[in-house]
Amino acid sequence: MTKYIFVTGGVISGIGKGITTASLGRLLINRGFRVNVVKIDPYLNVDAGVMNPFQHGEVFVTHDGAETDLDVGNYERFLGVDLNQQSNFTTGSVYHEVITKERRGDYLGQTVQLIPHVTDEIKQRIYQIGRDSAVDVVITEIGGTVGDFEMFPFIEAIRQIAVEVGRENTLFLHVSLIYTFPNGESKSKPTQHSIRKLQELGIQPDLLLCRTSHTIDESIRRKISLLCGISEASILESMDTNCVDEIPLNFEVQGMGHLVSKKLGLMRRATLDAEWIAMVEKLKNPKHSAKIAIVGKYTTGSDAYISVVEAIKHGGVANEAQIEIEWIEAEMLTEHDNIDEFFEGIDGILVPGGFGYRGIEGMITAAKFARETRIPYFGLCLGMQCLVIEFARNAANMQNANSTEVDEKTPYPVIDLMFEQRSIADKGATMRLGHYPCVLKENTKSYDAYQQPIILERHRHRYELNNDFRPQLEDAGLCFSGVSPDESLVEIAEVPNHPWMVGSQFHPEFQSKPLAPHPLFKDFIAAVLAYQQEHNELGEEA
Ligand code: GLN
Repeated sequence: MTKYIFVTGGVISGIGKGITTASLGRLLINRGFRVNVVKIDPYLNVDAGVMNPFQHGEVFVTHDGAETDLDVGNYERFLGVDLNQQSNFTTGSVYHEVITKERRGDYLGQTVQLIPHVTDEIKQRIYQIGRDSAVDVVITEIGGTVGDFEMFPFIEAIRQIAVEVGRENTLFLHVSLIYTFPNGESKSKPTQHSIRKLQELGIQPDLLLCRTSHTIDESIRRKISLLCGISEASILESMDTNCVDEIPLNFEVQGMGHLVSKKLGLMRRATLDAEWIAMVEKLKNPKHSAKIAIVGKYTTGSDAYISVVEAIKHGGVANEAQIEIEWIEAEMLTEHDNIDEFFEGIDGILVPGGFGYRGIEGMITAAKFARETRIPYFGLCLGMQCLVIEFARNAANMQNANSTEVDEKTPYPVIDLMFEQRSIADKGATMRLGHYPCVLKENTKSYDAYQQPIILERHRHRYELNNDFRPQLEDAGLCFSGVSPDESLVEIAEVPNHPWMVGSQFHPEFQSKPLAPHPLFKDFIAAVLAYQQEHNELGEEA
């Protein structure tokens, strides 16, 4: 019998429901249960694919090519599993399905309504995940904040699931905020109100997780318990932290794993999550530190590159190093005025993925700086394309080389639209998406990193290296160390006579996990540390 856990949020958005859900999943997996996770987003977009990453954070890509909410990335990292197309759905996708069925005549003349047709579609999807993955527990996180209009059909659907599968097989976890004034006084009223709101909709939370900056005292716990009908023992806290990987450990200490499994009748003894504990230890006690510049389109204050930041951290842990990130707005970077200033004290440069022309010249400038000063460079997707453009312009004598995404009239379109892409007009879910095999060339940085001849990596792009220019670029010294099995697509380009300058057409960051750092990130950070050491020594000599 599959059990169902539902995670809702109260008071404010961005309260950490995603990490909470991922952490709870980790606790259950560590007890030996099979767990699957799904994120529901109550917006009308069909998926996250065409949403602005500055507003909404990164678009995470699953191995089977779903463009999902960034929380799916958190789930994959914490649970150490690969999720799929089913792992994220939106109001838009539910309505799309219901309307398609209506047009097909599937409803046999009925009036199609929010209840039961939309709610049935939602329930069906959640049940389907349990059935298809044959897991013990399905955890469903509902995006948004309780009280939002757009959440209603989802809340109603999960209420009905509890009726259908039985309350003993369901657990409602509510994550809410306890606000503390500067004088130290904590306030629980917003939390009480958000629980009331849930209760009005027919849901009694079993477990309350209070996000807080201060330890919650007994009086607050008692008040919430009495007024909201949750036992004091079931009120836990999620203290603000800058180390998200520590959160599952904090939850375990408070007994969350025990409470949840007891409530669901899934008693099994917890084992020590030794590997995770060791990883957090390393994270908190680094032997080295270095600084990497990320030259991108969206910089500070956004989750636009969350998987990149996490993968850098994993690469750091693999090298016992803490990596500080300096965000550089690509548009600000112009070669002549300020480049040295921007890269002062930097040990490595990373150019992440992106779309459109904004900032691209700055990214190309960063690649040039890296190639010429021999500072390690890692290009991800657009970052790989910038590496190639820069090399074409400045090492292969192709003046004004460019990507046709940026300059349709360039004399050297070294990056061009893939053939299959030329006739596509729709923007949603039409890119080269999901994982593809790539064959590695021996005696290259890429092969050194992976130590295997064939890899599978995740893609999300429309443009590719233009094969017409492959011979010219190779003659000028660029190495195509990874290609598709039929050799028709270049997947990795690297500069051989450079300490570490590698660009991948795919997004390696999506597969990096805390307990399995991605090999390219691991080697990039190793090169960053080597560069730093060399420079320190040079500095000392001078
Ligand atoms: N805009 C580029 C393309 O579509 C790169 C995409 C990316 O970096 N994900 O090919």
